[in-house]
Amino acid sequence: MADAGATWAGTHTFRAPRLVIATSVDEAVATVRDAASRNEKVRALGTRHSFHDLADTDGTLLTLTEVPTEPEVDDAAATVGRGTVTVGAGTRYGVLAAWLEERGFALHNLGSLPHISIGGATQTGTHGSGVLNGNLATAVRGLEFIDGAGEVHVVRRVARHFPALAVGLGAFGVVTRLALAVEPTFQVRQDIVRGIAWDELLKNPLALLGAGYSVSVFTRWGEPTLEQVWVKTRVGVGSPPPQGWHGGTVMTSPTTLVDGDPADLTEQGTPGAWLHRLPHFRLDGTPSNGDEIQTEYFVARSDAAAALAAVRSLADDIDPLLMITELRTVAADDLWLSGSYHRETLAIHFTWRNDPEPVAAVLPTIEAALAPFKPRPHWGKWHTFNAEQISAAYPRLAEARAVFRSWDQSGMFVNDHLSRLAVR
Ligand SMILES: Cc1cc2nc3c(=O)[nH]c(=O)nc-3n(C[C@H](O)[C@H](O)[C@H](O)COP(=O)(O)OP(=O)(O)OC[C@H]3O[C@@H](n4cnc5c(N)ncnc54)[C@H](O)[C@@H]3O)c2cc1C
Repeated sequence: MADAGATWAGTHTFRAPRLVIATSVDEAVATVRDAASRNEKVRALGTRHSFHDLADTDGTLLTLTEVPTEPEVDDAAATVGRGTVTVGAGTRYGVLAAWLEERGFALHNLGSLPHISIGGATQTGTHGSGVLNGNLATAVRGLEFIDGAGEVHVVRRVARHFPALAVGLGAFGVVTRLALAVEPTFQVRQDIVRGIAWDELLKNPLALLGAGYSVSVFTRWGEPTLEQVWVKTRVGVGSPPPQGWHGGTVMTSPTTLVDGDPADLTEQGTPGAWLHRLPHFRLDGTPSNGDEIQTEYFVARSDAAAALAAVRSLADDIDPLLMITELRTVAADDLWLSGSYHRETLAIHFTWRNDPEPVAAVLPTIEAALAPFKPRPHWGKWHTFNAEQISAAYPRLAEARAVFRSWDQSGMFVNDHLSRLAVR
């Protein structure tokens, strides 16, 4: 038992009276069974990279980050290079990525940092970028989890209720292992372009955002030019941006983001293995700023220009609180609580200074500006949506709720956050 601590960024202090750091799946099962026998609550905790009380509970926080990762590829992967790897849910993406690369495999995509747990990231619909790349949960082919009675189940991609569970907010159980799709390793080159005019983005957002395997636009809203455009080109599939691309300058020396250290960032200007180029931050570096709050809204890609113009009209309110905005794309999927459910998506992200009151105060203004575009908030980041707005944003929520209840009839995994949003 240990002090439950806080989120990675310190934006929420967990009030859970008990933290269990399981070292085996058996111990995790015993923890859930013990809580069930006493009618107490449990929530799974990953690497704490969400920004609020989503993972909190009045009972036991249960983390699997110390359970051995034990990755295993299936026969299809071993013979033809495309199949699945099964791995412990508490494993960090960066750890699995290194294991896969050593054996000649890759995942289709990664988030901005490799430090997050696979269980926590997929449960909140975490995404990277790329017009053809689904979020990280779209790689999930099967889940093993502990339900509210302490029973262990395996659910595969073909199961009827799988789309509720792959992005399931830990609302139905504790995921212990996941099967993820793998493909043969590939090389990516990352280039940073500065000085592209904002108007160039507004004229045709996809001309920039669709220009590589994975593209991120970093900006402040009131500036005439975009801060940086990161183009990650899959070697053999496209060409890196030429000097002068969209009127910008391709950087030829290491470039950093928001007062950061270039040594924390993945390498620029040369091809390298997917795991060393798709995330922005290196596993052995410090990701992002740390003293920050994050927010992100998902809108339809077809609304990109109008949605960006609407947010840009608020630049005077946003920029004094903002460290940086990142714009990315995510391919549509069929996972009920995914931000990209049945929608080709533009993700509009804000890394805020850690100034909670003014940040909380500006969010409703941004949400009102985006309302015509039916935004969906990222589950792991700050927003001010209420239950009614969440249910309008996520049209399959009622069905997901029924699936969650079916695996957790006593409500062991319900917490204040999920109740507030009527997810459970
Ligand atoms: C610096 C930084 C960069 C980020 N970059 C990105 C990004 O590029 N793209 C993006 O989309 N998001 C990003 N995020 C958000 C982050 O990916 C999500 O908040 C994600 O949930 C973090 O995973 P975690 O393991 O820390 O989960 P936690 O915050 O620990 O938990 C999140 C949720 O998952 C549940 N959960 C965790 N483990 C399990 C499990 N084993 N079984 C069942 N439920 C579980 C918890 O109960 C909780 O509901 C970033 C966050 C930070 C701090």
